[in-house]
Amino acid sequence: MSRMLLRLNAVSEVAPLANLRQLFDLQELDLQIGRHQTELASVEARLADESALVKTRSKVSELEERSLQLRKEHASKSQGVQELQDKAKGLDQRLYGGSIRNAKELEALHAELQFAKSQANEEEDGLLSLMLAVDEAEAGLAMSHTDLGLAEKSRAQTVATLTNEQATLSERLRASSANRHQIVVGIAPALLAQYEQVRKARQGVALAKVERGMCMGCRLTLPASELQRVRTSQEPVTCSSCGRILYAG
Ligand SMILES: [Zn+2]
Repeated sequence: MSRMLLRLNAVSEVAPLANLRQLFDLQELDLQIGRHQTELASVEARLADESALVKTRSKVSELEERSLQLRKEHASKSQGVQELQDKAKGLDQRLYGGSIRNAKELEALHAELQFAKSQANEEEDGLLSLMLAVDEAEAGLAMSHTDLGLAEKSRAQTVATLTNEQATLSERLRASSANRHQIVVGIAPALLAQYEQVRKARQGVALAKVERGMCMGCRLTLPASELQRVRTSQEPVTCSSCGRILYAG
């Protein structure tokens, strides 16, 4: 029994270094997971963002509204011109029909006819510029329909590309998560807890390699005693300056 305990102790004594190596793999994986999560979030944000299309659609309906309004105005003005022309025609018939002989009455009728004609001419000018405005609005509308068609096509392509990226990233994250589970079960719970704690406090990087006597996490030179402990201690040693778990590699 005691021999077995000794054996177990011996195993746990070599464990820290092996654990740190696994912890380092875990950190690499966690950093990769973090990158994929960021990418996935960006892909999903772009998938949800229909603002360009919404803008183009609203431009189309704005121009449709304007076109419709101008066509209505044109129809109404056109009717007004017709009425004035009919009125002038009626006055003309009365004036030259021969039924009115009174000079004063004829003079008044003549004045009324002149006025109706000038009014009709004026309205016709207005009708012409309205016609030009209708043409212009309809040309703009046709162009915006083309723009919308192109925007919809481009959006469909973007959505297809992003959906593929989303599926690929989701699959990678699923695989990484399974991989993470496998690594985690091999690490001592206390060390894992420490790792998670430092990771949270140090922007995702809990473990720092020691290179040329320097903590690669904060790039400060470690005191000789700390370096010595990194090499010999059975317990994880943390950098006295940044708090990261030091890994000799
Ligand atoms: Zn450090």
